[in-house]
Amino acid sequence: TWSAVPAGPPDPILGITEAFKADKDPRKINLGVGAYRDENGKPYVLNAVKKAEVKMAIAKLDKEYLPITGLANFTQNAAKLAYGSDSVPLNQNAIAVTQSISGTGALRIGGAFLARHYPGHRIIYLPTPTWGNHIPLFKDSGLEVRSYRYFDKKTVGLDFEGLKEDLKNAPEGAVVLLHACAHNPTGVDPTPAQWKELSDVLAEKKLFPFFDMAYQGFASGSTTRDAFAVRHFVSQGHNVALCQSFAKNMGLYGERVGAFSLTTSSEEEKKRVESQLKIIVRPMYSNPPLHGAHIANTILSDPELYQEWESEVKGMADRIISMRERLCELLTNDLQTPGSWGHIKSQIGMFSFTGLQTEQCKALAGKAHIYMTMDGRISMAGLNSSNIEYFAQSVDAAVRG
Ligand code: PMP
Repeated sequence: TWSAVPAGPPDPILGITEAFKADKDPRKINLGVGAYRDENGKPYVLNAVKKAEVKMAIAKLDKEYLPITGLANFTQNAAKLAYGSDSVPLNQNAIAVTQSISGTGALRIGGAFLARHYPGHRIIYLPTPTWGNHIPLFKDSGLEVRSYRYFDKKTVGLDFEGLKEDLKNAPEGAVVLLHACAHNPTGVDPTPAQWKELSDVLAEKKLFPFFDMAYQGFASGSTTRDAFAVRHFVSQGHNVALCQSFAKNMGLYGERVGAFSLTTSSEEEKKRVESQLKIIVRPMYSNPPLHGAHIANTILSDPELYQEWESEVKGMADRIISMRERLCELLTNDLQTPGSWGHIKSQIGMFSFTGLQTEQCKALAGKAHIYMTMDGRISMAGLNSSNIEYFAQSVDAAVRG
């Protein structure tokens, strides 16, 4: 029956993990996967999460189905976290929200909703580069995928002029995907002033902002600071789409906790939009999983756990920032590795786009047992005080050839 089905290529990132697992060298480092690791290189379950689970066990919750749009308290708390408690559409009860299967599921619901109901073009502009999954995801949702310039290889920074030019040339009514903070894979974000300018460009050209926020709190250590772009656009009168993930900021990766929301003009409009979100979700997976949403909701609704969570998010962000500083210092000062490395320090979030070439990445895997994607992206969370010097020395050797 399936003799005509061709073998597909392996997933580039999951393939790295396979190669890493097969490597027996004790010095091996996996910098491919975007999951936080603690100072000992181990996966980290947040204390706030453990305490929430204890509370849940004591409460003897049942395992009944959630409604189609998920746990209502969770989606309300998630919206409050993203938009802020003083958000106008939030207080007007004009934000349509549904729980989602983490950030990916939110993107997919969003793509499907736009393909069906967005009155403008079914064209979505993605930054170059972007998270690899965005492209097939939006294509599979039925949107036409185009790109806008984002990363400037020469400066290893933002190509802000190119970005604005591409958006100004986009057809009126197109959708623009924006990484709300901690752009993946580059770690390069617009400044607050640049976000303000972008909000004006989108308004002028009647482009629709579609935010992917997979790292709120994880980028700067402050959930408020990381929500700046989303909140600014909303304050300027944009209606936005927003995808939230609790994978990184609560370490709930495999629990698949997320939310998709759309700001609307009124409570009545919100109700219509929400009814259509249900019509999209019901035939896909009926209703979302319960456990992770309960964990997130327990944390978001308990002031003590919330505070502990905020300090743990900051702890993770700060550890990553300190690894950036250390790596930059090792390459620049200690090893005097050819090239400039300041971008490692200025980039934001889980990843650094090192500027290493494919050949150098291959050499790192082959000779030094260090695994990363071939575009030179490393997960900063994979570095710690025990392996960072070995990593820097190996990069130095690869650069010097
Ligand atoms: N968007 C971006 C930009 C991401 O980096 C990720 C995680 N790698 C996601 C969305 C979705 O992740 P998840 O489905 O695990 O929440």
